[in-house]
Order: sequence, then structure tokens, then C-alpha cells
Amino acid sequence: MTPFVNEPYADYKQPEVRAAAEAAMKKVRKQLGKDYSLIIAGKRLKTASKLTSVNPSNSSEVVGTHSKADAALATKALESAVQFFPQWSQTPAADRIAMAHKAAAIIRERKMEFNAWLVIESGKTWAEAEGEVSEAIDFCDYYARQMHKMANPEPVVQLPGEKDEMVYIPLGVGVIIPPWNFPLAILAGMSVAALVAGNTIIIKPSSETPTIAAKFAEVLAAAGFPLKSFSLCVGSGAVIGDLLVEHPKTRFVSFTGSRPVGLRINELAAKPRKGQIWIKRVVAEMGGKDAIVVDHETDVDQAVDGVIASAFGYQGQKCSACSRAIVDKSIYNEFVEKLAAKAATLTIGDAAGFDNALGPVVSEGAQKSILNYIKIGKREGRIVAGGGKAPGNGYYLQPTIIADIPPSARLFQEEVFGPVLSVTKAKDFDHAIDLANATEFGLTGAVYTTNKEKIEKAKKHFFVGNLYINHKCTGAMVGAHPFGGFNMSGTDSKAGGPDYLLQFMQAKSIGEKIL
Ligand code: NAD
Repeated sequence: MTPFVNEPYADYKQPEVRAAAEAAMKKVRKQLGKDYSLIIAGKRLKTASKLTSVNPSNSSEVVGTHSKADAALATKALESAVQFFPQWSQTPAADRIAMAHKAAAIIRERKMEFNAWLVIESGKTWAEAEGEVSEAIDFCDYYARQMHKMANPEPVVQLPGEKDEMVYIPLGVGVIIPPWNFPLAILAGMSVAALVAGNTIIIKPSSETPTIAAKFAEVLAAAGFPLKSFSLCVGSGAVIGDLLVEHPKTRFVSFTGSRPVGLRINELAAKPRKGQIWIKRVVAEMGGKDAIVVDHETDVDQAVDGVIASAFGYQGQKCSACSRAIVDKSIYNEFVEKLAAKAATLTIGDAAGFDNALGPVVSEGAQKSILNYIKIGKREGRIVAGGGKAPGNGYYLQPTIIADIPPSARLFQEEVFGPVLSVTKAKDFDHAIDLANATEFGLTGAVYTTNKEKIEKAKKHFFVGNLYINHKCTGAMVGAHPFGGFNMSGTDSKAGGPDYLLQFMQAKSIGEKIL
């Protein structure tokens, strides 16, 4: 097996890359408004009830129309997955591994097209889309390699007169519930990990990004995953989400999304239902209130760049986004001034525009909720950049910075999930780390300092699943930065890490007496 390497990124400053992107966008635009089917029990089908997704950069543009599953169809999908599990789980691991690699190869081949779908349905800039599609490829390739290891486990101790082994087997039927903010990478990661391990799955995509999910379902089918090994079940969380989670034959739920929905799923899944013979396994990766600590012993300009990239990349709509900068008092004023000046230079507009640093937020609902937080922030602190909507026929917001936010403030404690950054003054480095830890979340964090002792302190005491030193707090790379958070940020499943497939498998010990 060749060693895993991350998928390289295209550079959108290059004219030939821009030309390829424009050509891909032209092709994608020709498909706008298409009607997409569900995939249930091995069949593609349409229903009368529809969901429409729009381009957040231009809300009058329809991206796709999607049939919605009702409770009866979701139940059918689940029952079919139960029926197909014995056959799929017995498929040789080598075949499933080959399919996962093939899925990576197909996405790689269609990379620009996928980038364009992400730009148009999720409002990612080209560079952000490139990062995400590369990550989706990485997940498929990485989990294929991990499955090879799971299929060839470390030998156990051999007792005299026995052949002893421990093998990993799949769990059963899983429900895959991804968020809209990484509509391809997280969907692909959770789905391919579950499938390559030998489980059958029901995919319930986010209602904001169903077209990307439909395109990914095409990839799974083209890679050879049988249509009965996965269902594509578009529909509302309330109508089919609860049902799928509660069903007694559901063996596991793989969820990535907000804290309230994750906790609800965890609670619903914990209650055994009539006919259920297992404890459901729930992997729930949830929100963040990620902080960057800026010490006085640092290059302030470098720290400003790191905070700006972490706070405003994809309009702050990453679970890993920096939403709190915690800054040593001796450089606080200089830092805030430089930060505000930098934010004012960021261009906002259509995500398809190569030179725009920020596109729109994902929906009107998101825009309203973020504006409400800005209103709260105006009471809790001092606006030093942005503070409202930006012009355009989409859901545009200015990158907003609110200084002097106290630790008790809602802006310090609650996930806003938009381009809003709070800045808080710390007495010294220890105080800054205490402040960074003073929320219920624990997903990502970063520290900017050149002091070796302080770096060691941060490594010991900054309680987050993903810590970065002198590095932005976003952009985890598959294989290098296994991803998952502590506390209310989730179950720390470490996506893109060497243990991830364990979430989708159980170990069976076999002690055989040698006759
Ligand atoms: P969300 O919780 O609103 O939705 C996530 C998914 O859950 C969607 O597919 C949604 O349709 C589904 N859902 C909603 N109600 C449901 C129900 N009752 N039963 C089953 N499914 C239901 O989150 P979102 O707005 O899509 O995503 C943003 C959130 O995700 C943020 O909080 C962000 O921090 C988090 N996130 C976390 C990570 C991570 O790795 N920790 C990664 C990306 C995003």
C-alpha cells in the first residue's frame, strides 16, 4: 500500500485554473433547477412533496428541486437496509476498499464540477470549495486504507493449544446525518467510513444542500456501492429524522451538526424501543466557540492574519471558526486596530467571483440569526468592524468584529456561526488560557506565542480536541489533524484519524482450541 498523501490544491490565482473553474461553472449552470430523485430500497423515485434549494449568492436562482421522503418512505429505506445488511457485510473487505478508492478517483476526476456545485449551493468561495472537495477525496482514500488495517488486525496473545484472534465486524444499519457547512466532505467521510466498514446506511442530507448530496450519491453508485447499500432520504428532520433515529433496527447514528440537534438525537437514541436488542451507538460531532489566544510575545501581524483567516473563511460558518480572540492586555489596542483595519479590506460578494474573500451566509434564516447576534453584541461590546448586511441579491453580511466582550457575554459563550468575531482582553497568558477554556465547548483553538514554556502550557491546559500553535484554528488536514471536539463539541470521534473506523465496527474475540 502506498503511503497516504493529501490531495493537492489548485491555485486560483493561475489563469488556467480560473478558466477551468469558469468552464465547470458553465456546465453546472446548465443543470440548475433540475429535479432530483430519492434513492430508497435500491430504486430511484420521485414524490409530490418537494424541497427547493437556492443559490445563497443570488437567492432568485434555483439550484435544484428535490423529492422529499415521508415517514413511510423513510421506514421503507430502513427496512431495506436491514434486509441488505447480511449480504453487504459479507462482501469481501477488499471489494469495499476498492469501491472507496474508486469514489475518491471519481470525485478527483470531477473536482472542478464539484467545486462549482459547492460555490453555487453552499456559497463557498472557490478556494474554500477546493479545500473541501480535496478533503472529501482524502476521506475516501484514507478510510479505504484504514479498512485495510481493520481487515488485517494486530495479532492477539496466543495461548498454548489455542488459535486466538480478534476481528472487527460491522455494526449494522446506520443513519448518516451531515450538516450543510461541509456538504460534501463530511457527508462523504461519514458515509464512506460506514460503508467501507460493511454497514448499510440511510443518508439524510441537510435541507440546505440536497443537490450536493444527490451528486455524491451518483459517485457512490458509479464507484460500485450497490444501490441497496445506501439510501438517499431527503426530508425534514422533524418528519423523518426522529423516526430514523428512533427505529429499533437502527444500530448507530453518525451525526455532525449543532449542539441542540446532537443532544436531541443522543437522547432519542438512548431510549430502547420495542424489539430493539442493542444500545445504539451515537457519534455526534457538534458546535464550537473556538478561541485564538494571542500572547504579547508574538508577531502581531502574523497573529492578525491567522485570526482573520480563521474567523472569516467561509463567512465564519465552520465549526472550527475562530469566534473569540483573547489578547494579552499589553498588545490589545494595537491588535484590535490592526484586526479592524484588515477586516475592512475584505471584499464581499458572489462566491463565484474569484476575488471575493467572503461570499454569502447560507440562508435567509442564518442571516437573520447572525444579525440578531450582532444586535446583542452591540450591547455587550464595541463594534470595531462591520456590523450589518452587505449589499447584493443574496445573504451577504459584513465581517464583524466586536471588541471588549466580557467572558459572561452571550457573544463569548454561544455559537453564532457567521462572520462575527469577539475580542476579549486578558491579564496575562494564564488568564487567556483560562478564558479560552471558559465555555461549554472544546473543539478547536490556537495560540500565537514564541515562548516555548507558554507553548508547553497551552499543550497541557488548553482543553480542545484540535489545538494549533502559531497556526490558524481552521483547515484540519485528513491524516495529520484527526478532527473532533471535547465537552459539548461532541464525542471526539477524530474524523480523518487512525481510530475513526472503530466507530463503525465492533470487535469479536475468537479462541479456538487446536484439536
Ligand atoms: P443542524 O444541527 O441544524 O443540522 C444538522 C443535520 O441534522 C442536518 O442534516 C439536519 O437536517 C439534521 N436534523 C435536524 N433536525 C433533526 C432531527 N430531529 N433528527 C435528525 N436529523 C435532524 O446543524 P447545521 O446547521 O446543518 O450545521 C451547523 C452546525 O454543525 C454548527 O453547530 C457547527 O458547529 C456544526 N458542525 C460541527 C462539526 C464538527 O466536526 N464538530 C463540523 C461541521 C459542523
